[in-house]
Formats: sequence, structure tokens, C-alpha cells
Amino acid sequence: MRAVRDAVGDRIAIIAKMNMDDGVPGGFWLDEAIPVAQWLEADGLAATLEMTAGSSLLNPMYLFKGDAPLKEFADVMPQPIKLGVKLVGKRKLKAYPYTDAYLLEDSRQIRAAVKLPMILLGGITTKSVMDLAMDEGFEFVAMARALLREPDLINRIQKDASTPSLCNHCNKCMPTNFTGTRCVLVQRSTTRTATRGKPEGYAS
Ligand code: SF4
Repeated sequence: MRAVRDAVGDRIAIIAKMNMDDGVPGGFWLDEAIPVAQWLEADGLAATLEMTAGSSLLNPMYLFKGDAPLKEFADVMPQPIKLGVKLVGKRKLKAYPYTDAYLLEDSRQIRAAVKLPMILLGGITTKSVMDLAMDEGFEFVAMARALLREPDLINRIQKDASTPSLCNHCNKCMPTNFTGTRCVLVQRSTTRTATRGKPEGYAS
């Protein structure tokens, strides 16, 4: 934290994003995460804390919740990993049911242990869930898949608080991390239209 603060000076607020539950036997859990959050607060260098969960290697779906995209993972992997995903993928990519604000119960325990502003992550897709986070004492929320699906979602929610998210938690965007992160349900334009002239020196 000191190295980061020294590098950015006073220009940038530092967000500390840390795990609170690996989701594997013997892994990191709240009993260790709470004191770590308190150390970060005592340092006085972090502006805010964002809590996450799930070991990305040992139990990745513990963070994402929803469907496990086994076929899509196998499709992008080279052999012999492709074969491994087909054989033992179900064991590695366990599906967990998606619920709104699915990290709230654990994050609440960190919330109670520190006074630092906090960001609630996980299953935040609608205004009512954002309101729930604020009522629970979180100052901010973080969104990811919902914005991959609809980058303009926040503007639409601002205009109409009842706007639902179109993200269906299929998690087929997860394997696109290897080829350019995107929602597979969003059509990608194959043609690009220039909206301004070529800069000087470019061949015509
Ligand atoms: S692929 Fe699209 S709809 Fe499916 S989880 Fe990802 S962002 Fe949501």
C-alpha cells in the first residue's frame, strides 16, 4: 500500500480489493479477512475496500455464481487442457446458484469491523439492489457482467429506476478473457466506420 501511495501521490484514491473467502477447504476465510481489512484501515492509505470471494484457480465459480460455462472453456483451451476441462471440468467449475447481492452476507461482517468506505460487489444489477447496499452501510457498489451486457445500463437506470438487467448469468463471457473480454450475447460490429479524417501522414 505504501509503494502504491508513493507511486501515485495524492492524485488517485486507492481501492483495496481483497478476498474474504476462497471457497475451498483450508482456504482464506472471514476469520483472516477481517483482521487484514483492519490492518488496511489502520494503515490509512486505502480510500475504500472492495471485498471479493473465490479462488480463481481452485474454485472460480464461487465468485461468479450462475451457470458454469464448461463447453465455452473447453472451446478456447489448447490440448491437452481442452481434454482436461471435458474430463474434470464439472468438478473444477462447480455451479453455484445466482442470487442478488450474493456477497452481502460475508461483506456485512467486514462492514461491521471497519469504518473505511466500502464497495459491495457481486450480484448488483438493479437499482433496488443498489439501494439495499446503501441501506446496509456500503458507500459504493461495483458491477461487471451487467455492464458487459449493457454498457449503458447505469444511464438507463438513472432515467428509469425499474430498469432490469439483461445479463442472464450464463457466464459465457468468462472464457472470452482469453480472446477479448465481452458478452457473447452482444453482437460485435464487423465493420468500422471512420468518423473523422485520417491524421496527417497516414497513407490514403
Ligand atoms: S455472457 Fe453476457 S449475459 Fe452471459 S453472464 Fe456474461 S455478460 Fe451476462
